[in-house]
Amino acid sequence: MLFCEVYLALQMSFVEYGEYIREGDIAIVFLGHESMFPVKAQHGTQTQTKYGVIRHSSDLIGKRFGSKVTCSKGGWVYVLHPTPELWTQNLPHRTQILYSTDISMITIMLELKPGSVVCESGTGSGSLSHAIIRTIAPTGHLYTVEFHEQRAEKAAEEFREHKVAHLATVKNQDVCKEGFGVVGVADAVFLDIPSPWEAIGHAKAAIKEEGGQMCSFSPCIEQVQRTCLAMHEFGFKEITTLEVLLRIYDVRSVSLQLPDFGDGDSTAERDPKETGTGQQATAVCNSCVTPRGMAGHTGYLTFATKSLL
Ligand code: SAH
Repeated sequence: MLFCEVYLALQMSFVEYGEYIREGDIAIVFLGHESMFPVKAQHGTQTQTKYGVIRHSSDLIGKRFGSKVTCSKGGWVYVLHPTPELWTQNLPHRTQILYSTDISMITIMLELKPGSVVCESGTGSGSLSHAIIRTIAPTGHLYTVEFHEQRAEKAAEEFREHKVAHLATVKNQDVCKEGFGVVGVADAVFLDIPSPWEAIGHAKAAIKEEGGQMCSFSPCIEQVQRTCLAMHEFGFKEITTLEVLLRIYDVRSVSLQLPDFGDGDSTAERDPKETGTGQQATAVCNSCVTPRGMAGHTGYLTFATKSLL
């Protein structure tokens, strides 16, 4: 009885960690950083991987999240608990999506935290929505507006499947014409639509009181210019546009020739033949190598603060 209660309490959701995989849960099948995909655990179902078949009844359901599962051809995979970050990397794309680099900046700058009330449009593929929901849980709420009917329905279905539907309301309407469907409640508003300048008035109305923040994501600078003008017109203050570019450094061990400081004492100064080994003296150092390629431009993030002045 006690075991059953604990087992029930630890059910997977995108906002709480579940210990064991249960029927209907989402698990991320991890073959490597470049190769992973989500599966819904269902009795009697099989999933093909390049290492062979995973049988859900015996290989997934009842196993701990994080387990190493041996597939039918003898290779193995990890079955991971879903997180918004893994979901962003693996979700079915219905639109362009926001990625974790931009999402982290949005979360910090909009000061999102447990209990925050957030309005978002469009919902798109729900990449940002899942991250917002995780951050504002367990007492906050996301109102997300999407005018494409199937996308709105699919997002609502995913929120139910991911056990976060109580934290989000999906509205199928045009945010530029009808707004967010709530007034004076939001701590923060986020826009990822082609014409954000048409929704700035609705964003202002949705924000609860002076001091609330908004952010608009646009790929083109011309969209940013129009958005900034509209923000200014509606009395928003502290209007700031930024772009986040991720630059990852590789740390490598390299052999470097020892420097010659000319003090007459350094090993390096001596003729290689004199070191006795016939080789130039070197030292092994850790070196930071700048990246050869970098993820390019995604979009500009324009932040502003609601002011009644
Ligand atoms: N941020 C989302 C992607 C949004 S893509 C993510 O991370 O997944 C942009 C979405 O905005 C599209 O789905 C589009 O249908 C929706 N959209 C565009 N204009 C809109 C409007 N005026 N009202 C509501 N939704 C709109």
